[in-house]
Amino acid sequence: MQAENNKKLIAYFSMEIGIDPSVQTYSGGLGILAGDTVKSFADLKIPAVAVTLLYKKGYLLQRIDEEGNQLDLPYDWEYEKFLKPLKVLVSLKLRGRDVYLKAWQYDYNGASGFNVPVIFLDTDISENHEEDRKITYFLYGGDEAYRLLQEAVLGIGGVRMLSGLGYDSLKKYHMNEGHSSLLAIELLRNRKIENINQPETLSDAIDRVRNMCVFTTHTPVPAGHDQFSYSLVEHVLGDYISLDILKRFAGSDKLNMTYTALNLSRYINGVAKAHGKVSRDMFPGYSVDSITNGIHSFTWVSDSFKELFNEYIPEWFNDPYSLRYAISIPKDKIWKAHMKEKAKLINLVNSQNGNKFSEKIFTIGFARRATAYKRPDLVFTDIERLASICSLHGGMQFVFSGKAHPNDYYGKELIKKINNLSVQLRDKINIVFLENYDMEIARQMVAGVDLWLNTPKRPNEASGTSGMKAAHNGVPSLSILDGWWIEGCIEGITGWAIGSVADDGQSSDADDAESLYDKLEKNVLKTFYRQHGPWVDIMRYSIAINASFFNTHRMVQQYVTNAYVY
Ligand SMILES: *Cc1c(COP(=O)(O)O)cnc(C)c1O
Repeated sequence: MQAENNKKLIAYFSMEIGIDPSVQTYSGGLGILAGDTVKSFADLKIPAVAVTLLYKKGYLLQRIDEEGNQLDLPYDWEYEKFLKPLKVLVSLKLRGRDVYLKAWQYDYNGASGFNVPVIFLDTDISENHEEDRKITYFLYGGDEAYRLLQEAVLGIGGVRMLSGLGYDSLKKYHMNEGHSSLLAIELLRNRKIENINQPETLSDAIDRVRNMCVFTTHTPVPAGHDQFSYSLVEHVLGDYISLDILKRFAGSDKLNMTYTALNLSRYINGVAKAHGKVSRDMFPGYSVDSITNGIHSFTWVSDSFKELFNEYIPEWFNDPYSLRYAISIPKDKIWKAHMKEKAKLINLVNSQNGNKFSEKIFTIGFARRATAYKRPDLVFTDIERLASICSLHGGMQFVFSGKAHPNDYYGKELIKKINNLSVQLRDKINIVFLENYDMEIARQMVAGVDLWLNTPKRPNEASGTSGMKAAHNGVPSLSILDGWWIEGCIEGITGWAIGSVADDGQSSDADDAESLYDKLEKNVLKTFYRQHGPWVDIMRYSIAINASFFNTHRMVQQYVTNAYVY
């Protein structure tokens, strides 16, 4: 194994990785992106190893009670069934104690069998103090100190574990978001900077570390970046590194994980073109490129479309660019494949709480993390208006899903609001909220609805990826022009825009709702019910134009040429 390990060139670090629906170590977009990235690394035979934490108690199991409240239940999952234990132990000093780390490995084998391992770090071992055993229990659980402990285990512990496992020829360390940026400090420390007094020599060391580091930022708002007070840093890390040196690249008042990553990376990128620009404005003085996110095509194409693509574009599964030839798949075949997936989703919905959804009715899907800026309730701004649009043509029905972070009070209020509306509006509009949004529910929803809705408040959506999953299944989007949709939307061809990018930034909720109703009424419903041929054209263009580009194969190839090789 050691010999194999030392051939890996890229180490990919992420606080969460969603690689398999059964491996409950992800909460949402960031983790799914990381998992899809690993899969494309493997399919494209990019020699990489990924590092994350083993969350034995997962993220959260969501249940909705009678009043529509989200209940946060623990998610114990059978990690031993999916991961294999590795024999190496490494340690780091946290809160004055030695904390030992064990690792578990998930093997992802790509299209031609090439392996990319995912290493899950685990502190829950008998060598450790009771308190330290809990460090890797929960994803995004606990307080600030817990978070810093986890980020230290990921960044510092991760580098040590890779070295312990024999990964000794790594050329690049890729930080997927700033959570793992202590890895760059560890790389600096390995160059023994503590003993270097001449500033030139330290700057040489920094230069060498920067050549090894790649940073992808995902957060378009300043509040989204992790920061820790230096008193907490001293409490957790002790004398790991002198604060004088740390403050040179981590921020003068607080340890800012984003600034640490920005200052110690040669290549930095945002996750869509517009997000690159937002990041350049937010971090003046840094050179920030953009590589637009994608999704792993083979993971997110439903069974019915897999069958169809296998028949017409057999090379598609490891060459998603070839999905452009979807343009020549007969329209009736596209429609049939869609209706099969729609029937499955409607069955799932109707198997719960006496729902009466129909396959004949236009179905809108909305699913993602429930949080204020995503505005899942925007479509309910004017319920009279919505009900009147529903009475046009053949009507509409809605499928919602999404978890709120356990501490996101407002996100939970949104979930309650939608659940309560689904009851109140029962006689007017069919609305269902599916519990416990995860990869499996996502897979069924993105393929089974007729339209994918996304209504974030600009410019908060760095990229968004669920609409890309829908496009892979011939499902067009109706979305705010933010994140990837600025690049993916060709009005009336791949879907529709809500609002415009021209009204720079601050459109009001009311304006956005007005535009949403207007598009539904004048464009979307009319096309769906009255112009079947043109509707299926839009489905085909969603695949040919958007799936062929918004995939992680293209994204990973851009990382290779722009970030990894220079
Ligand atoms: C794709 C996915 C997301 C991300 O959706 P966005 O539209 O980018 O917010 C979140 N959760 C799950 C389970 C997903 O599959």
